[in-house]
Amino acid sequence: MPDRTSDSAGPRAAFTYEALPYRVIFGEGTIASAADEADRLGIKRALVLTTPHQQADGSKLGRILGHRLAAEFPEAAMHTPVAVTERAMDVIEIKEVDGLIALGGGSAIGLAKALSLRSWLPQLVLPTTYAGSEMTPILGETRNGMKTTQRRREIVPDTVIYDIDLTMSLPAAISATSGLNAMAHAVEALYAPDANPIISLMAEEGIASLGRALPRIVATSSERAARADALRGAWLCGTCLGAVSMSLHHKLCHVLGGSFDLPHAETHAIVLPHVVAYNAEAAPEAMRRIARALGTPDAAPGLFGLQRRLNVPLALADLGMPEDGIDLAAELATRNAYANPRSLDRGELRELLARAWRGETPLS
Ligand code: NAD
Repeated sequence: MPDRTSDSAGPRAAFTYEALPYRVIFGEGTIASAADEADRLGIKRALVLTTPHQQADGSKLGRILGHRLAAEFPEAAMHTPVAVTERAMDVIEIKEVDGLIALGGGSAIGLAKALSLRSWLPQLVLPTTYAGSEMTPILGETRNGMKTTQRRREIVPDTVIYDIDLTMSLPAAISATSGLNAMAHAVEALYAPDANPIISLMAEEGIASLGRALPRIVATSSERAARADALRGAWLCGTCLGAVSMSLHHKLCHVLGGSFDLPHAETHAIVLPHVVAYNAEAAPEAMRRIARALGTPDAAPGLFGLQRRLNVPLALADLGMPEDGIDLAAELATRNAYANPRSLDRGELRELLARAWRGETPLS
């Protein structure tokens, strides 16, 4: 039977590559272009979306939009609760909103996507973390504590304004975990069942950019060049997430986040080196590229070393996961079949999770 991955057989000669239709503005001070970009999308009555924490930045954006601002909605929350989306839908109706403008991380952008799915309004987004949601057709929503995820091409934001200035206030610790969350998208893209050479180029460059930038940001969070590298890397990694299928790492993080209400980026940061170690033998070409991007001899120890240098949490226990949740997580992660370079063994996943729970080095 022919090898279906791009890995052990080397890059496939034939592949499908589907580009998504973004317009991207990248630079410093680019928030100033928001009014022109809203005009370009025909937005005359914008709803500005932020989390409560970023309300002041939302109001600054509102002033830039001037007469195009219909209302601000500073209630975006992690995992896109449907109740919040429904409240925002009421505002859209009352204020006769004709366009959505999100400023923030995956939470604000997730709300914009959820609203566009219900209203088909155009979306302009200004990302302020490295999570990458702006580059994907993916929406995860939570109803009654249950998170469901869908891929819909129609919910891809129309225009993305990357403004390095907006990332300067992201605390070093959140920058580190958010950057590792982005790297996880690129890592899994390299061994995806639908991997292709174009996305793999972006993946390797995304890992390299973040691998160089994050230690500098943790050392000096105001270093602008490092912030620019990290944001460009996050863009590339987000593109990978939007373009090809994700595997064990994203499945485990989805299960852990959903079952134990663990924080999104920190969970990704802790789990990544363990999953890479688990998949190492089954995906040697991906491992070679990850290691090359990080400038280390081996992928999993390289990622674990980076984690340690970035001072991010190393143990799921420290995020509040109960030890007796390990069995449930291993069971949930193996309940349904999905693509992964190495077959899924519940006992071995249990061991992987136990090591991640204790914060130990990944099993080689
Ligand atoms: P977030 O958007 O929840 O932001 C975390 C906190 O940091 C918030 O309080 C936010 O206001 C604050 N913050 C963000 N940027 C800041 C800045 N520059 N300065 C100061 N504070 C700032 O976190 P996130 O990790 O970006 O997003 C997580 C959510 O996004 C999850 O719900 C996750 O499922 C989703 N997500 C979705 C996709 C997708 O493709 N659909 C991809 C990645 C993440």
